[in-house]
Amino acid sequence: MSRRPIFAANWKMNKTTSEAKTYCAQFGNHVIDPTIADVVICPPFPSLHAVRLALPTAIGVGAQTVANQLSGAYTGEIAIGMIADAGCTHVIVGHSERRALYHETPALLAEKLERVINEGLTAIFCVGETLSDRENGQTQAVLLTQLQGSLKPILAVLSDRWQQLVVAYEPVWAIGTGKVATVDQAQEAHDFIRSTLKGLLGPIAAKGIRIQYGGSVKPDNVKELMAQPDIDGALVGGASLDPESFYEIIKNGVTQ
Ligand code: PEP
Repeated sequence: MSRRPIFAANWKMNKTTSEAKTYCAQFGNHVIDPTIADVVICPPFPSLHAVRLALPTAIGVGAQTVANQLSGAYTGEIAIGMIADAGCTHVIVGHSERRALYHETPALLAEKLERVINEGLTAIFCVGETLSDRENGQTQAVLLTQLQGSLKPILAVLSDRWQQLVVAYEPVWAIGTGKVATVDQAQEAHDFIRSTLKGLLGPIAAKGIRIQYGGSVKPDNVKELMAQPDIDGALVGGASLDPESFYEIIKNGVTQ
């Protein structure tokens, strides 16, 4: 089964709406064939609608998180219905910054994933170990806990909608540090994630679910990462803030 690559830009808490529009005007000049790769831009909440309007429809727009509740007295939270109404196609769930800074647990992330899938959007579900996890030989144990803890509670939802799940392997020690996992480290983790997905969702889903790598991806290192059999795209932070650099990543990533 061939998996269409997916490249997502996570802007984090960067760019005003006017800056976002300028970015889209520049990025939209590049023609990206949607049959070759999925491309998704994930700006901060206030810019979602403007970014949707400013980009060609072939490019997806994603939120960086979502509330686990559908509506009500949850000051500051943004519900999945609002995200869908803004024209979003994707939602990042469980980014390591959300896990570390906002104490998002696997159980909470299961609820968020369920909201995204039930709304018909695609979830980009992030997993990854810290440096001390890796140094203590705990990488696979951590990935297993994260995957099982958030996917097991929603297996019934995912069983026939696994196409709406993308997993992003993001070793925390490689995010924003300039330290990229070696291709062997990345491939080993992706292979482990795929075999865990096989145990949870079966062989067809495991073969079809796309697994992105994230962590200091740049135009000059994406090609060797994408050459690995289980790496199906990239979730890009810092290097996605410049439209030309994000476009170079996509271009270099799809031509091997
Ligand atoms: C990220 O935050 O998802 C990320 C991968 O960041 P960076 O590309 O800057 O390491």
